[in-house]
Amino acid sequence: MTERLYYKDQYIKEFTAQVISCTANGSNFEVVLDKSAFFPEGGGQPGDKGFIADAQVIDTIEKDGEVYHICNKSVNLGKADCKLDFDYRFANMQQHSGEHIFSGVIHSMCGCDNVGFHMGENYVTVDFNTVITPDQLAEAERLSNEAVFRNIPIVSLYPIGKEVEKYNYRSKKEIDGQLRLTQIEGVDLCACCGTHVRLTGEIGIIKAVSMAKNKSGVRITLQIGRKALADYTEKNASVHAISNLLCAKTDEVAEAVEKLQAKMRDADFRYAALKKELFAEKSKNISGEKCCIFDNGGSADDARVFADMLADKVKIAAVFSGSDEDGYKYAVVSRTEDCREIGKSLNASCNGRGGGKPDMIQGSVSATKESIENFFNNI
Ligand SMILES: [Zn+2]
Repeated sequence: MTERLYYKDQYIKEFTAQVISCTANGSNFEVVLDKSAFFPEGGGQPGDKGFIADAQVIDTIEKDGEVYHICNKSVNLGKADCKLDFDYRFANMQQHSGEHIFSGVIHSMCGCDNVGFHMGENYVTVDFNTVITPDQLAEAERLSNEAVFRNIPIVSLYPIGKEVEKYNYRSKKEIDGQLRLTQIEGVDLCACCGTHVRLTGEIGIIKAVSMAKNKSGVRITLQIGRKALADYTEKNASVHAISNLLCAKTDEVAEAVEKLQAKMRDADFRYAALKKELFAEKSKNISGEKCCIFDNGGSADDARVFADMLADKVKIAAVFSGSDEDGYKYAVVSRTEDCREIGKSLNASCNGRGGGKPDMIQGSVSATKESIENFFNNI
C-alpha cells in the first residue's frame, strides 16, 4: 500500500519515491508509488495533478485502497522525482476547508445535514436536506467568514476504540477502519479523508453565490478562496462595463436597467401605434376581391397586423415581407374564405411552409416577388 504523505504534511509539493508499477490503460498509464503526496479523488475532493519524472499526472484515483497516478506517458521503475501542481491543490484545500466551515455552521444553525458535496473547476456546490431561508443563508455566510477571520487551526484527529464515542461529529457515511476527524474548534467536527489548510485564515472569503431548490432541500453554490477572488474580479469587471454603458454608478445599475426597460416599453407602445397609422394610410386606396402587398423590412407580426387591417377592405388580404434572395414571410387573412386552403396551394406553388386557422395563416416562402404575384393573380 502506498504511504500517504499528505496525511503527514498536506503542504508537501515535491518528493522522491520509488515507482513500484506502471501499467498501460488505454492511452494512459497507471503508476503506483511506494509513497505519495498526491491526493486521490475522494470525499468530494478531486484527485491531484502534477508530474512523476517527466510524465504528467492528469488525475489521481484510489482503487481497492491503492493510490493510482494517471499519467500521460510511461514511467521507469525505480527512483523518481515527483512534483504536485500545488496551485491546483491549494485551491482545492481552500475550497474543502471552506466547505467544512459552511456546512458546520449550517448544521449548527438549522440542524440539517450536508447530503452532497461537489468541488467543480469553478465553484463548489453543497446540498442540504432541508429548506434554508435567504436570511439563514446570509447569517451562515457571515458566521463562516467570521470563522475565517478568527484564524482557527484545522487539525486531524484519529480517535480509536472508546475514544470515538467522545466525539459528536458529522459524517455522510458509516466508517469502517480508522476514523479521521477534521476539527475546526468551535465551528465543525467532521469525518473526512481530504486535505485541508492549516489555519482558517488561509481560506480567504467564503461567498454563497446562489441557492436553488434541490429534492426536499437546497443546493448552495459557494465561491471560496482564490476562486472567489477570480469570481469577484469577473463580476466587478462586468458591473463596471454595465455601469459605463448605462452612465450609472455601480451600485445603481439595477435601477438604471429598470428605467431603461420602462423607456423601451413606452417606445414599443408608441412604435406599434405609429405602425398602425402607417398601415391605415397604406391601405387607404385598396379595394376589390384580393390584394397582395409587399411590406419589406416588416416583421412577421407586422405582416399579421397589416393583413388583418386589409381584410376589412378585401376578401383575401396577403402581406409579404422579405426579398427574392432571402425569401418572404407572409400572413394571409380573410373574413369569408378558408385561408388554410389558400395556404396549401401557396406553399405548394411557392416552395413555402406554414399554416394557421381558417381566418388567418402565417408562414414563409422561398420564391420571387413575381411568382408570388402570379400566384395571387390566378386564385
Ligand atoms: Zn471533508
